[in-house]
Amino acid sequence: MTYYIVSEPTDDERWNMYLLYKLSFHKDKIVGVYYIPRIRYYGPVLKLDNASDLSDIVKQIDTNMFNVSLKMICMRCGWCCEKNCGAFMFEHEAESIELESWSNVRTVRLYNGEKVKIYYLDSGRYGRCIFYDSRNRRCIIHDRKPIICIVTYCARYAIDAEGNLYVREGRAINGIIRFKKVQTGYAHGRDKEHHNNNTSTT
Ligand code: SF4
Ligand code: SF4
Repeated sequence: MTYYIVSEPTDDERWNMYLLYKLSFHKDKIVGVYYIPRIRYYGPVLKLDNASDLSDIVKQIDTNMFNVSLKMICMRCGWCCEKNCGAFMFEHEAESIELESWSNVRTVRLYNGEKVKIYYLDSGRYGRCIFYDSRNRRCIIHDRKPIICIVTYCARYAIDAEGNLYVREGRAINGIIRFKKVQTGYAHGRDKEHHNNNTSTT
């Protein structure tokens, strides 16, 4: 099994949608969103037997590099689901969701020319996601959440391979994100935490 990072998003929406759309068929391969200091990478990491049909958007990384990375975690503050969330689903992601009607549907063209429908979820008050349970601060479609929510993290909180907790310090400069360790032994190892963290909002 090998770790892979994903090509950077650009200012071309068709390319970014293409990345998301392809990843949306491989959610189970995404091990989390990571910051890898040595290559200044911040984004999703996948664990794959081989890159197969993702070969145009992923790149293999050295396992040692992955082992010294920081994994983003969600503290469930709800901010990114509660206001102007901007979340959406691709048509195939929305198929398992029973809704009487989708109020905001748009067709987008991908980098490869393909056209796909996207279903916006932010029609709640102040742009709140329709699947966000504010009272309990949780995503009610957690197991079926769209790819955009799986790969989008605020990058405020992270853990290392030993489960120590870090908080981000300031803005990224030239791709360098600074984190400060704030708690030792916060989680019982990264893989276990990742599993648990999937009950969180993002
Ligand atoms: S990812 Fe969203 S819900 Fe989680 S801590 Fe960050 S802003 Fe809050
Ligand atoms: S994580 Fe869930 S509640 Fe939050 S924006 Fe995504 S679908 Fe909505």
